[in-house]
Amino acid sequence: MGPSLTNLLKDSESLKTGMRGEVLLPGEEGYDMARSIFNAMIDHRPALIARCADATDVALAVKYAHAHQLTVSVLGGGHGVSGLAVCDGGLMIDLSRMKETTVDPDRQIARAQGGATWGDFDHATQPFGLATTGGLVRSTGIAGLTLSGGYGFLMRKHGLSCDNLLSAEVVTADGRSLTASADQNPDLLWGLRGGGGNFGIVTSMEFRLHPVGTVYGGLVVFPIDQAKNLIRYYDDFVAVAPDELGPLLVLGTLPDGTKAVILLVCYAGSASDGARCLEPLLNKCGTPLMNQLAEMPYEAVQSIVENFNPRGKRNYWKSTYLSGVTEEAADVMLQRFLAAPSPFSHVVLYTLGGAMAHIGEQSTAVENRSAHHVMLLVGMWDASDDDDKNKAWVRQLFTAMKPHSCDGVYGNFDYDSGLERVGLPRGAATFERLQALKDKYDPTNFFRLNQNIRPSQT
Ligand SMILES: Cc1cc2nc3c(=O)[nH]c(=O)nc-3n(C[C@H](O)[C@H](O)[C@H](O)COP(=O)(O)OP(=O)(O)OC[C@H]3O[C@@H](n4cnc5c(N)ncnc54)[C@H](O)[C@@H]3O)c2cc1C
Repeated sequence: MGPSLTNLLKDSESLKTGMRGEVLLPGEEGYDMARSIFNAMIDHRPALIARCADATDVALAVKYAHAHQLTVSVLGGGHGVSGLAVCDGGLMIDLSRMKETTVDPDRQIARAQGGATWGDFDHATQPFGLATTGGLVRSTGIAGLTLSGGYGFLMRKHGLSCDNLLSAEVVTADGRSLTASADQNPDLLWGLRGGGGNFGIVTSMEFRLHPVGTVYGGLVVFPIDQAKNLIRYYDDFVAVAPDELGPLLVLGTLPDGTKAVILLVCYAGSASDGARCLEPLLNKCGTPLMNQLAEMPYEAVQSIVENFNPRGKRNYWKSTYLSGVTEEAADVMLQRFLAAPSPFSHVVLYTLGGAMAHIGEQSTAVENRSAHHVMLLVGMWDASDDDDKNKAWVRQLFTAMKPHSCDGVYGNFDYDSGLERVGLPRGAATFERLQALKDKYDPTNFFRLNQNIRPSQT
């Protein structure tokens, strides 16, 4: 039996009265703003939106959804390109007001609420010269990113975001608040490190911090005719580069329409060491069109990628893992990139390795720690009439890279990661463990708008 609209609207008053935050219904001021997310292709309309102010609000919203048999979606930073954070016709539990971040500089720990973004987090920790691995765009949510792993400039030195997650407060499907830590519900903590939003709503997260003040980083832009040469050399270079170096290589289009190959780096060490480290790579590829490498605050290097990823464009993304880039693979990347129908689309080699690769595959639910790169295929454009050709471009590039890729996708970088993901090739042992956790914490699959792990009985 589905929810009755009349009851829903009548009872939403009781939810409004109980909550410290707001409840928004279709047509009300703020409703359209609240349901709009990074990816403009997502136009879902929840029956109601609970904009929670605290963990008690979250628990109330969960109980309300149970009582009315509503599908639930959970919004953190709103960067999930698949749009699973916004449901159609159900209850969207919106944590975007819950951003508070507190720092204990002596213990080098920060605790942030589940709707905080990496911008909120860095803003709180950087005055103490501290940071942890976080996403490259300030408006990405800490929760969505961490729960599925969390790649960032610092991962080669300090591990993934989820490797630095020390504990979390979670509202589970039955409305209880649980702590997941090394001492309390350690199985749940394991699942939160890579298992996505399957086990509950994370209302706060505690992270280990590291001394990170100024770094050496920025962009270096080369002409596209250097791309093949640079990709091949880059692959060899980063395989032996120090863990301080967090590098990405991007095939993209400059604002004036020039296609280019772009190095984006963050060296988490001294400027002189960083310059020395990068010298062989820079010398290999002739004169750059632009070199902006400099010593800069960590927060400055964290804001560079935003220029390539403005909010409000239509997005279709896929990703694949690479254990290296052969000449043939470099050629596929380049030729397909040159055929991109939109100047906003780009191809990224997001380089892995270092500390994140030294953590055992079974220690967390994250897959593919041993790959050398995750290759991110970003289709980005403006007009809905162009949806088909831009999606087709991403899919064709993804298929063309298959022979050069290792198994697996990074759920955080995949538009289709939702329902398609069930049973996909995590190691069998990891998947079984995740499913056992799902059986324990969410046996009815109440939280299913995510990279879903289905309970064994459904
Ligand atoms: C511009 C851009 C840059 C990015 N850069 C990086 C990067 O550098 N590294 C990287 O690893 N990824 C990156 N990503 C991908 C990003 O990690 C995912 O999109 C992630 O899902 C974003 O989390 P969110 O909270 O912002 O998203 P949302 O869309 O709000 O949430 C996505 C999903 O996460 C789950 N979720 C979110 N919050 C909670 C919560 N509090 N409790 C339980 N479940 C929750 C839900 O299942 C939800 O559907 C980027 C994405 C974008 C759009």
